[in-house]
Amino acid sequence: MEISIQSKLPNVGTTIFTQMSALANEYNAINLGQGFPDYPMNNELIEKVSRAMTDDHNQYVHMNGLPLLRQRIAEKVNATYNCNINAETNITITPGGTYAIYTALTTIIQKGDEVIVFEPAYDSYIPNIEINGGIPVLIPLAYPGYTIDWEAVKQKITSKTKAIIINSPHNPSGSVLNNNDIEELKKVVKNTGIFIISDEVYEHLIFDDLPHLSLLRYPELMERSFVCFSFGKTYHCTGWKLGYCIAPETLMKEFRKVHQFNCFTCNSPVQYALADFIQQEDQYIQLNKVLQKKRDYFASLMTHTRFVPLPSHGSYFQIYSYKNISNLSEKEFAVQLTKEYGVATIPVSAFYKNETNNQALRFCFAKKEDTLEQAVEKLIKI
Ligand code: PMP
Ligand code: GLN
Repeated sequence: MEISIQSKLPNVGTTIFTQMSALANEYNAINLGQGFPDYPMNNELIEKVSRAMTDDHNQYVHMNGLPLLRQRIAEKVNATYNCNINAETNITITPGGTYAIYTALTTIIQKGDEVIVFEPAYDSYIPNIEINGGIPVLIPLAYPGYTIDWEAVKQKITSKTKAIIINSPHNPSGSVLNNNDIEELKKVVKNTGIFIISDEVYEHLIFDDLPHLSLLRYPELMERSFVCFSFGKTYHCTGWKLGYCIAPETLMKEFRKVHQFNCFTCNSPVQYALADFIQQEDQYIQLNKVLQKKRDYFASLMTHTRFVPLPSHGSYFQIYSYKNISNLSEKEFAVQLTKEYGVATIPVSAFYKNETNNQALRFCFAKKEDTLEQAVEKLIKI
């Protein structure tokens, strides 16, 4: 009998990030697609990792993460978000934010459970729900501000709703939750068994003096939440793939059952280095200013093109409309832009399960000024 495999994700291809980065390489285009900085990360942190290795911190650390790192994370979040997180019972270090979200979903989903997802959505959410036997219930964010329609949420809640995924600051739009959103979320979940998965990997990339409304701040939401973070975004080291999940003790106990047989424990020298480096407040408090400057610089250059900006208040990203330029679909236009004009972006349609077209592309502005200038020089020609 011939070997054949029944796909668990029959409708899934290769992620758009991999596709567009490959196309950018092939056509030697400037890559404003996939979200990663092209400027160097902090050298002191690199040295700390190096030192951890030479000091022989090279064996497995505790399954839940290096205790000292968890302790320092607890100190940081308790001070930042005025909460009462316990290093021992509430925090698990994970190999990145995506894994933390996947593990949270795997922990809670039973076959046939519904999970509310707002679209556009970071592209791992829906496959992660489906591979666990769950059913994604899709709610569009209102274009062009990408805000949540809470009436639509209330209508989509059923007896099968197991969880809601939120993401603020939001990828790909850069929209952020405000106080009203938090109040609405509280109303929606009150007296239900609904869990919340809060993707907060861009917690420190929030602009225009807006506060990050982490769910860690709200005990009545936190009692049902898995809050997911990534060191990659905060310290400009996306390739290190380290993050963490914070959840109440009973939820975290189950999360750890899944984690222990999947990853067990994460890279040790990086955890030693971060346990030390995370104490330098400046490294994350200043981050919003640095990235806001990049957003604004890129936007000022883009005024010389025919692209029209949509609002972005956070993340590495800003969406621009090309409705004045082309009638092609977003994917076709993104490919044309890469091949013919030498700039790679991400079509926003890639963040939707079903066909959509707002004639909008996502640009990553977490780049050197020189990179942004070179890219816009090309975009001006369109
Ligand atoms: N969530 C969102 C919205 C993201 O953009 C990213 C960045 N890749 C992640 C989660 C996960 O980050 P990582 O797994 O690389 O830590
Ligand atoms: N989060 C980054 C982005 O949205 C990269 C994600 C990835 O490559 N999987 O571009």
